[in-house]
Amino acid sequence: MAKNNISFFIPHVGCPHKCSFCNQHSITGQTDIPHKHDIEKTLSKAMQEIDVADRADTEIAFFGGSFTAINREYMYELLSSAQPFIGKEKFKGIRISTRPDCIDEDILNILKENSVTTIELGCQSMNDIVLTANERGHTRRDIICSSKLIKEYGFRLGLQMMVGLYKSTPEIDLHTAKELIRLEPDEARIYPVVIMENTSLGDLYKSGEYVPYSFDCAVELSAQILSLFEQNGIPVIKLGLHASEVVEKDCIGGFYHPAFRELCESELYKKEISRLIEDVDKKVIKAVISVRPKLTSKVIGQKKSNIEYFRDIGIEIKIVQDNKQKESIRLIGIEAE
Ligand code: SF4
Repeated sequence: MAKNNISFFIPHVGCPHKCSFCNQHSITGQTDIPHKHDIEKTLSKAMQEIDVADRADTEIAFFGGSFTAINREYMYELLSSAQPFIGKEKFKGIRISTRPDCIDEDILNILKENSVTTIELGCQSMNDIVLTANERGHTRRDIICSSKLIKEYGFRLGLQMMVGLYKSTPEIDLHTAKELIRLEPDEARIYPVVIMENTSLGDLYKSGEYVPYSFDCAVELSAQILSLFEQNGIPVIKLGLHASEVVEKDCIGGFYHPAFRELCESELYKKEISRLIEDVDKKVIKAVISVRPKLTSKVIGQKKSNIEYFRDIGIEIKIVQDNKQKESIRLIGIEAE
């Protein structure tokens, strides 16, 4: 997996749809589209700034719109502008994101010939009712067929899903995660819904037709989905939209939080501590938990939320740090009634 990306955003250009939640201008924070000279300028600068050793771990990424749906002339301009910067002692290849119904053999041949290494598919849900309700314009079957084809062609496959879409339920979201795992992606992204101004989802929200899950439910569910992917050896390279002033300005509801992933990871540690305590055959009133030092803030939770949670149910938690232990967390002492 490439560790780094040099990203270019191509907001909404060429995308044949307008999904219920999509406001590409807000998500990418720009309306100008990059052209040859922009790409050459950025990549030349990046070549000087990034060590040779790190370049082999760096992909040139075209995000934002649906890359394979943009007009061919512009697509070739983007692909060809990047070519001089790919190869030995240069960058690893190109990463693109697109829609499941914009993949076929013809386009995969073009991408293969032009140094594309990773294809990310915006799947969002594996439930056709949810896909239709959110005006996605593709089906669950499109996701399955395009994922298989991408893997057959030897590209790295990334799958993206959303949590809490209109007409979805926690059960449907969990089922989506399980179905995506069966497609054996190399990586995943999880996006809890962020409701933007000037979207049809925003209108449904304002009218009361769309009622999102509670924030706590979204965190708990996203944590469960994160854990499912990780248990199956699939790295989750992103959880939640990136922190951006534009998103914060246009966001009118949903689950935006600048540290969403950390909230989910803290939730998983809370569950883990609960499991450790439940395994003790006594009523625990105090537990000493040993953690690897770099995990301390996640185990404690934001604003000590995990400590508070256990205090509220009558258990005092004491955290100690151990930089030699193999496990993330260990129960090393208790007081019981
Ligand atoms: S396919 Fe992607 S770019 Fe196109 S409208 Fe939907 S979310 Fe936006």
